[in-house]
Amino acid sequence: MRCPFCGNIDTQVKDSRPAEDHVSIRRRRFCPACGGRFTTYERVQLRDLVVIKSSGRREDFDRGKLERSIRIAMQKRPINPERIDQMISGIVRRLESLGDTDIPSKVIGEIVMETLARIDTVSYVRFASVYKNFQAADDFDKFVSELRPTSPAEE
Ligand SMILES: [Zn+2]
Repeated sequence: MRCPFCGNIDTQVKDSRPAEDHVSIRRRRFCPACGGRFTTYERVQLRDLVVIKSSGRREDFDRGKLERSIRIAMQKRPINPERIDQMISGIVRRLESLGDTDIPSKVIGEIVMETLARIDTVSYVRFASVYKNFQAADDFDKFVSELRPTSPAEE
């Protein structure tokens, strides 16, 4: 588990016990790199996130696909890869905390655009311009392929 203070990935579990509700395990963690202490909770996830397309079709949420579309939009932008990872994790956490496991694809697109707009305008414009066609096409695979990186031959 990555240290939330310094980013060190080698943190230690000092203590592990069921939380009061007995549906989660509470772990106290310690970061030997910065001395930071933090707590994590381990929970059973009964249902995975499902994406509801505007056609009504359901598809398992695929973090990899989301990640690809974001990385392509951010291609060659001067943004630290670690920052991009954090951003993607932040988006996934937001989706998980929406309170419903069924998430309209539109909501995902909006959260991504909102996040990109705060981080990098160029990436936001790239994503948003393709996203508009994507909404019409309602096809995430098509969306990802339209966002594909420029091939070296085209440069
Ligand atoms: Zn640390």
